Amino acid sequence: MNIIVCIKQVPNVTQVKWDADGSLIRTGLPTIINPVDKNAIEAALQLKEQHGGKVTVLSMGPSQVESALREALCMGVDDVIQLTDRKFAGADTWATSYTIGCAIQKIGDYDLVITGVEAMDGNTAQVGPQVAEYLGLPLLSYALSIAVADGKVTIDQKLGDVARVIEAKLPALVTVEKEINEYRVTPIDKLIDAFERTIPVWGVDDISPDVVHLGLKGSPTKLRKVYSPKLEKGKVEMLEGTPDEVARQLVDKLNAKFLI
Ligand SMILES: Cc1cc2nc3c(=O)[nH]c(=O)nc-3n(C[C@H](O)[C@H](O)[C@H](O)COP(=O)(O)OP(=O)(O)OC[C@H]3O[C@@H](n4cnc5c(N)ncnc54)[C@H](O)[C@@H]3O)c2cc1C
Repeated sequence: MNIIVCIKQVPNVTQVKWDADGSLIRTGLPTIINPVDKNAIEAALQLKEQHGGKVTVLSMGPSQVESALREALCMGVDDVIQLTDRKFAGADTWATSYTIGCAIQKIGDYDLVITGVEAMDGNTAQVGPQVAEYLGLPLLSYALSIAVADGKVTIDQKLGDVARVIEAKLPALVTVEKEINEYRVTPIDKLIDAFERTIPVWGVDDISPDVVHLGLKGSPTKLRKVYSPKLEKGKVEMLEGTPDEVARQLVDKLNAKFLI
């Protein structure tokens, strides 16, 4: 069973700083694998342990994503592929998904693609579904478990108060929640191999995309402004009435501000 896992390298958002224009200061910011993507790797490794096959991890980003891929190798995946090219830069979620989709087509011969539900910096949760759409794969999202048998994949999905069991024929794409598992600690024997491996870097010429869909030019989303919202401080409003009335007023006010 051949599984492809997509991982994103993200800034460690607990240490994010913004400049005066409201832009993220990326220089010197430590990076990590998007945490839920480690659960995606773990899910793939567990399926490989049950069914055999191969786990390939791919990540699109600047040259630093190499360190995320080495960490994936440390966890025990078989192969990694780095997608780095200046023409990929400035991609929105659609251009990112298109580029990843082209790379998956180039890898070929896969049964399952696994992504995290969402990245902790972008938080759109769009890349997994858009890759599935591009590749024409059934999408099974928000998985709390994955099982494979008889050419089908089955997941437990929880959406709010609703729990569902969903099944689809392979090949398929599954997006996983962090509750799906606890990812393994790096086995010590994998460390040396992981740091000695040459990591293949694929650019535009390797994945043969239609270049009009790449990077900033191929991105339908246009970012107009990034800013830190100014929080009003020290403004207090006293609510009057019985506890029930006060609670009702509070809920209405929070609702009106779209906070709940
Ligand atoms: C107009 C515009 C320009 C942008 N320019 C840049 C830029 O120049 N540089 C930049 O870093 N970002 C840029 N971004 C942000 C970029 O689009 C997102 O980082 C990217 O599309 C992923 O979206 P997300 O973070 O919401 O991921 P989500 O959709 O929340 O991620 C879901 C899952 O998809 C997978 N995934 C997501 N991204 C990747 C990836 N890169 N490689 C492999 N797997 C992945 C992971 O498994 C992840 O858990 C830009 C966004 C916009 C709108």
